[in-house]
Amino acid sequence: MQQTNTIYKDIVLIGGGHSHALVIKMWGMRPVAGVRLTLISAAVDTPYSGMLPGLVSGHYSFAQTHIDLAKLCMWAGVRFICATVRGIDTSSKSIALLNRPDIDYDLVAINTGSTPNIQRTVGAAQFATGVKPIAEFYQKWQQLKENLQHATQPLNIALVGAGAGGFELICAMQFAWSQLKEQTSSPLEHQFHWIISGSKVLGNHNLEVQKKALAKCRAAQIKVHFNFYVEEVTANSLIAKSLAPDNTSNEEFKRETLAVDEVIWCTAASAAAWPKAAGLNTDQQGFIAVNDYLQSTSDSSVFATGDVACQINHPSPKAGVFAVRQGPILFKNLGAAILQRPLQLYRPQKTFLSILATGDRHAIASKSQFYCSGRWVWRWKDFIDLKFMAKLTEFSDQPPMQIQPVDPVLSGLLTHPKTSQISIFKRLHYLFKGLPNVSEEMRCGGCGAKVGSSVLSAALHKVRSDISVHKRSDIIVGLESPDDAAIIDTGQRALAQSVDQFRSIIDDPYLFARIATNHALSDLHAMACEPQSALAIVAMPHAAETVQKRELYQLMYGIIEELNKAGCTLTGGHTSEAIELSLGLAVNGLVDRQTDNYAFTSKTGIREGQQLIITKAIGSGVIMAAQMQLKARGQDVQSCIENMLQSNQTAANILKAHRCTTMTDVTGFGLIGHLIEMLRGTELSCQLSLSKIPLLNSAAALSVQGIESSLFEKNFAARRFISNAEQWRDSPQYPLLFDPQTSGGLLAWVDADVAEQCQQALRDTGYPLAIIIGEAFINSADIPRDKSDLQHAIQPSITIS
Ligand SMILES: Cc1cc2nc3c(=O)[nH]c(=O)nc-3n(C[C@H](O)[C@H](O)[C@H](O)COP(=O)(O)OP(=O)(O)OC[C@H]3O[C@@H](n4cnc5c(N)ncnc54)[C@H](O)[C@@H]3O)c2cc1C
Repeated sequence: MQQTNTIYKDIVLIGGGHSHALVIKMWGMRPVAGVRLTLISAAVDTPYSGMLPGLVSGHYSFAQTHIDLAKLCMWAGVRFICATVRGIDTSSKSIALLNRPDIDYDLVAINTGSTPNIQRTVGAAQFATGVKPIAEFYQKWQQLKENLQHATQPLNIALVGAGAGGFELICAMQFAWSQLKEQTSSPLEHQFHWIISGSKVLGNHNLEVQKKALAKCRAAQIKVHFNFYVEEVTANSLIAKSLAPDNTSNEEFKRETLAVDEVIWCTAASAAAWPKAAGLNTDQQGFIAVNDYLQSTSDSSVFATGDVACQINHPSPKAGVFAVRQGPILFKNLGAAILQRPLQLYRPQKTFLSILATGDRHAIASKSQFYCSGRWVWRWKDFIDLKFMAKLTEFSDQPPMQIQPVDPVLSGLLTHPKTSQISIFKRLHYLFKGLPNVSEEMRCGGCGAKVGSSVLSAALHKVRSDISVHKRSDIIVGLESPDDAAIIDTGQRALAQSVDQFRSIIDDPYLFARIATNHALSDLHAMACEPQSALAIVAMPHAAETVQKRELYQLMYGIIEELNKAGCTLTGGHTSEAIELSLGLAVNGLVDRQTDNYAFTSKTGIREGQQLIITKAIGSGVIMAAQMQLKARGQDVQSCIENMLQSNQTAANILKAHRCTTMTDVTGFGLIGHLIEMLRGTELSCQLSLSKIPLLNSAAALSVQGIESSLFEKNFAARRFISNAEQWRDSPQYPLLFDPQTSGGLLAWVDADVAEQCQQALRDTGYPLAIIIGEAFINSADIPRDKSDLQHAIQPSITIS
């Protein structure tokens, strides 16, 4: 989890490339006190490129070849934000993200890699699959394998690109097919084509390596097409201008067409457009120009490494090996830059060892004029790669370093309004005499613990300029004209109120705010009330004002975004300082009067024969507990977050449209706890179909490992209401019935005649897992009576089937 020390500065890493993975690992061992490190990555799992061909060949699993960035960050105390960067404003030091608010930084490092140049060839973007982003390529490869297997006639698969990556991939694909062919006894002879624009393969390698590679292609019956410069890709062909074989003749280019069924694009690396658009110096291809400290030549608060960067004094080929080597220097330089200390030079090696896998557990090693090949070379590569990956994926036994108290010099520098004005004598004084450690200073409680008004007004000002606050006509005094209290007109309608508060379950304040807001609003949705207004209660961790502003901005943005979607107005709130981030919302809803009654749904009123529907998957308690213990996969945590982010509003409307009058939301008491609340006081039992209950990915597997939320034990006491609990005790899904949920789905009872239709309507409107999971029936004569509880004399009963 995030460090609890006071935070003064933000370093943001963009892209989970090789350098950044190493920086995060090193940060876990040696964090800089007072500094928060954040990773923004478009993907949760980032591939280790050296092992990608091995994944395609079938020698490695997905998990073996990918770094789980979410887990790595969790271990290292680094904030993880899963988002795509679309731009950067270096003057305001702000990063623009796709579909979420901007993130501000003090220092930023960019390691977003490159993609093959697919845009420049007519039709390539439409009809070919780029080898990067690798997630997309891998998905395509899975589909391609299916096609190869189920084809009715031989297919032609072409790979365009004469480099090492292209060679390894074409060999890997051909090998994977040869294995599949053997396993399925397929009679088909699919043809693999390696498309080379010039007259040479592996231009950066020595002649012997090139010969070996071609011999390998011959042996594997891969057709190599030299001098085939692809000008156009169509749905079923590659069209090329073909050069004369020796490239010496002045003849007109001939046009040539090759019939193909699939095209993989693995040509030279191209740069994303946004760094140049941000005004950063770039080389001619658009790669960020960096000096020998890996620092942008136009902006000293920007660093860049890996494929996205070009070290102006020492340009190197685009290869993962450079990104790896730059990682430790980047780590040192980010720390040094934030502390205003001297930076370290990075000198790339002139030559480097490449080991090219040939698909069949053989490899060719190449360095300058040296080469060797064979099975043992593959084993050597396998050893190096697995060792590298182990560093970034196996860390549970090495706890990261505890954050040291804030470095006095650092806190002196960082808290002083004009850092440049601190004299060297003062710095030495700080160093030897020590500064009062800000994180240990006495901080006021009560009203003195309020967040400073400048923080609040700056954050509010920025939020309101970036996202408009939904305005309702019945808010008489609200945020627009802030006063001591909000004044609200409820007209003839009844007012529904609910409040919820919890501490941050994730390090991302924007997503946390959205989850907490949905969680709070869910009570109104479950009662079919119209969300009207909300008050937010925020507790912010101690931090420098700029950092608090950033945090509050993210939080307020998330709150307003979700309230706006619900048509609910934020009317005010309160912020205070605390050890950790927490957010509460008091929400108001309106209920119409219908003749003598108010038209709201409630937890009570189940009728015999009604069917029980659940709208979302359960298991968030287990997943979040596993995340804390570094036992959850980042992907599963992301799916869980997506699940928690989904509002119950549409589901509630659909349920109501299907005559539902009894519903509740599944939260802290877990499915069984909330079901019991609904059954209490009725003469009905519930027949619950355990196998139908939708579960979040890996929730059951983690639960079997004994992982449970801290509330589980209390919720588990409710098993006494399950008539056949013993019978299901060992079922992997069973413990999840008691798993506390954050922003869980709705549990709703509908009449049997509309249940199927309602289930379908829910699935059609964004609740694909909505399902009927039970039925109400009259309890048998021997209903257990709970004498101590006179109000609810009949004990609820559930039977699992
Ligand atoms: C098949 C193949 C095999 C290869 N084998 C080798 C090899 O054996 N050895 C070698 O040295 N090189 C190899 N390479 C080259 C290697 O892939 C690249 O040079 C290397 O991946 C570059 O590393 P990087 O750290 O710069 O970026 P990457 O590894 O590409 O990582 C970039 C990361 O940034 C993320 N990202 C991208 N854009 C954004 C955005 N806008 N916002 C947020 N996140 C973003 C991506 O999701 C990704 O996680 C191979 C390439 C291929 C295609």
